[in-house]
Amino acid sequence: MIRACCIGWPIHHVRSPLIHRFWLKAYGIDGDYSREAVEPGGAADFLRTLADRGFAGCNVTIPHKEAAFAAMDEVEPGAVAVGAVNTVWHDGGRLIGMNSDVTGFLRNLDDQVPGWDVEVGHAVVLGAGGAARGIVHGLLSRGVEIVTLANRSRGKAEAIAAGHPGRIRVVTWDDLPAILPGADLLVNTTSLGMSGQLPLVLPLDALKPSAVVSDIVYVPLTTPLLADAARRGHRTAEGLGMLLHQAVPGFQKWFGVTPEVTAELHALLAADIRGH
Ligand code: NAP
Repeated sequence: MIRACCIGWPIHHVRSPLIHRFWLKAYGIDGDYSREAVEPGGAADFLRTLADRGFAGCNVTIPHKEAAFAAMDEVEPGAVAVGAVNTVWHDGGRLIGMNSDVTGFLRNLDDQVPGWDVEVGHAVVLGAGGAARGIVHGLLSRGVEIVTLANRSRGKAEAIAAGHPGRIRVVTWDDLPAILPGADLLVNTTSLGMSGQLPLVLPLDALKPSAVVSDIVYVPLTTPLLADAARRGHRTAEGLGMLLHQAVPGFQKWFGVTPEVTAELHALLAADIRGH
């Protein structure tokens, strides 16, 4: 039996087992995917003994993505740019890592808003946490000319901007009404709007009709930001698709099959999210 897992702290809320067990069953693979609670500071030890513990590899979630990056023997280029790893496998005793949050975000946009990148010169990204770092890198690598970054803690936005000289402009939340009319794409990467968190307060009146709106929060499935954008006629991309697509590379590496993100899998996760 091939085994993989997700490490994080806390870990009980992580939905990856639902995704991977769905695919294991669908492709008739003798395998399992579990949640492993690993305390802050414990990721490097866990990863170094991954094979001894019987795992072909793992996903890495909060708060271990940077520690996992540092623990790798080899890191794929996309993860080097972000400084964080969320998918790990071993090959001949060497630990290899990648960042599938970036590819998952882009693949989801491609799926939900085909052609989104044809005319995106200017993207506005809200938030400067771990997810934002990868998303900004992904947008720039796909040809977005300039990213405007707004975050509560300005220093974190400036740290991301420093990695992409001349391509990122850092603004305050109060600047946004003046900036939104020029946006081709608006992405929320903050946890605002997530169930149990504060709401995201941002009037969309100034957005041009062609602007695309994406939210990576997936609980609830349709965040108030996405509902507002859809009501105004904008094309939108929800966060659940990103979660599903980021799981693909890990499954492929561990279990040897490139799995498909199907409507049935989406419905399974959506039902689970609605049930909580
Ligand atoms: P993170 O590193 O903790 O960053 C959180 C971000 O939200 C920061 O920009 C933070 O601002 C901002 N924020 C939090 N509370 C705020 C408040 N009260 N007011 C203003 N800003 C606030 O988390 P992350 O890993 O980037 O994840 C962010 C969100 O994306 C979470 O909801 C997560 O579930 C979701 N996510 C979804 C996927 C997916 O596959 N769809 C993948 C990754 C993450 P400060 O910097 O000022 O603290």
